[in-house]
Amino acid sequence: MAEDKALTSRAADFSAWYNEVVQRTELADYSPVRGCMIIRPYGYGIWELMQRVLDDMFKATGHQNAYFPLFIPLSFIAREAEHVEGFAKEMALVTHTRLIHGPDGNLIPDPSSKLEEPLIVRPTSETIIYDAFAKWVQSYRDLPLLINQWANVVRWEMRTRLFLRTAEFLWQEGHTAHASEADAQEEAARILGIYRTFQDDWLALGVVTGVKSPAEKFPGADRTYALEALMQDNRALQCGTSHMLGQNFARQFALRFQAENGQEEYAWNTSWGVSTRLIGGVIMAHGDDTGLVLPPRVAPIQAVIVPIYRNDEERTLVLEKAAAVAGALRAQGLRIHVDARDTLKPGPKYYEWERKGVPLRIEIGPRDVAAGKLMLVLRLELAGEARKQALPEAAAIESVPALLERYQRGLLSAATARREQHSHRGVSSYQQLREIIEGSGGFVYAGWCGSAECETRVKDDTKATIRVLPSEEFRTPEAPRHCAVCGREAAAEAVWARAY
Ligand SMILES: [Zn+2]
Repeated sequence: MAEDKALTSRAADFSAWYNEVVQRTELADYSPVRGCMIIRPYGYGIWELMQRVLDDMFKATGHQNAYFPLFIPLSFIAREAEHVEGFAKEMALVTHTRLIHGPDGNLIPDPSSKLEEPLIVRPTSETIIYDAFAKWVQSYRDLPLLINQWANVVRWEMRTRLFLRTAEFLWQEGHTAHASEADAQEEAARILGIYRTFQDDWLALGVVTGVKSPAEKFPGADRTYALEALMQDNRALQCGTSHMLGQNFARQFALRFQAENGQEEYAWNTSWGVSTRLIGGVIMAHGDDTGLVLPPRVAPIQAVIVPIYRNDEERTLVLEKAAAVAGALRAQGLRIHVDARDTLKPGPKYYEWERKGVPLRIEIGPRDVAAGKLMLVLRLELAGEARKQALPEAAAIESVPALLERYQRGLLSAATARREQHSHRGVSSYQQLREIIEGSGGFVYAGWCGSAECETRVKDDTKATIRVLPSEEFRTPEAPRHCAVCGREAAAEAVWARAY
């Protein structure tokens, strides 16, 4: 069967490997509309698990979900000057509301249905949300206002890749209003922390956090905090952003409140988001030449049970045991699938579930049933963990949750070690910076004078950008003294990389 053909290896063509993994593990598919994607059940299952975890984290920190419209009046987006510049080139517009048959019988927009003011399909919702906030907030007692929405957004991208860059994608966008700058700043930092916990402890990405340079920040924000992960081709993936918006939007949307001292003041806003692009990050951070490698906490199937039998008698015996084991594992809160298909032999089943990244396989044959044992096989061999082990049934069942947790942590350790192995610190000359970026790639930690000129020069010469000015814990102990590009005094250490 064509489906059994091996994947292109990562070393041969990382991009081809990625596309094959996405399609052949049935995560997503192309759509008739160029640049849009169909998220298939296996991919959507991962997204649902991600949503559940994040949603709980947001609610535990006082946020509530709401929903705002898909369409935004065109005039709204024009109000914040930087904001419109940032999004103008990728905007989908609604201009008509009705179709009629044209002279050739084909359908055309009815000229009489032309909207007086066109609507944009939201690329992000700051404008429409702060317009609503302005109506809801009168006094400092109405603050903070902590809202999140789960939604789709549209950014008309020309060069698209499934999950990583698509015209329409799914995300959450948080929007908050606060009475003081300090409160808003604290919120932006709190969300960065939530994202980091999620991306490290659930997705095992091993992210680096920091603040964006002015050229890379969100259009309309005072400051953008970001999380960057290193993919296996040594390119960076921005995994989430948290923006301190200052009073920029509050001023444009008259989001004012009466302060405790009776004065009218503008509120302070934050916005923050992560998207389905994180699924692309998981694929590229952990996958191997066999296929997907999923962290157990976001794996739709955490363990697959494969029964082994040669005749009906064995089949009955083994399936009965498989059902019992599945029940015992589900009772521990695990997501279990029993692959009872008679149309496939165990070998091809193993291969299929390995390709789909299922963390653990449990094999049960007639001899295992007779001996009261189960064979546990992890998707990957990780440091300090045997890939295969045969254990007495009760002990095996009991051991699975902890085994999956160790595997989860093992993936994070491996991703973090990989990231550090490809992080080049103390890079002090421009030649060295270029050689690394144009050679092996990875994160280049180097001094930066703070000028847009130096940032632009690197981008023009190498396509690398400043991913973040790293948070303290990621900085090189000995701070760089000079800008690696121009040699002037360094204002900060920067992490440079080519990025998705
Ligand atoms: Zn410089």
